[in-house]
Amino acid sequence: MHCPFCNEVDTKVMDSRLAAEGAQVRRRRQCTSCHERFTTFEIYEVVMPRVVKSSGLIEPYDQNKLRRSISLPLQKRPVSADEVEAAISRIEQALRKTGEREVPSKILGEVVMNELRQLDVVAYVRFASVYRDFQDIDEFQAELASIKQPQGV
Ligand SMILES: [Zn+2]
Repeated sequence: MHCPFCNEVDTKVMDSRLAAEGAQVRRRRQCTSCHERFTTFEIYEVVMPRVVKSSGLIEPYDQNKLRRSISLPLQKRPVSADEVEAAISRIEQALRKTGEREVPSKILGEVVMNELRQLDVVAYVRFASVYRDFQDIDEFQAELASIKQPQGV
């Protein structure tokens, strides 16, 4: 990496340590030309599979879109932002674990529903009722029946 002060190509690593609970490597560097010091961070490049919609259209994975889809049914529900973020992490982990470069949106939807079901049953039903295709109504009703306490829905 070029020196940010003088643009010299050659810089020397003075110190290298783990940061952010091991998720980052922090390096202290010194320019061999102007001797200024600076810090660089190295992080994972997180590769998420792309999402194949039912139309066949392929879209890049979009975390903000996922957050919106989860947050909408959770409106006015007793679920904290931290819990939502943890659910997003688990969903991303599940998608990466498939090892696939492309994942059908149906699979993503199933993973999201499973997470919502753990978080809040009302949000789960809200999401499921919007997400589910009408042709899947039998399956949807079977899932509803498997929820013992629909809590006013
Ligand atoms: Zn320099």
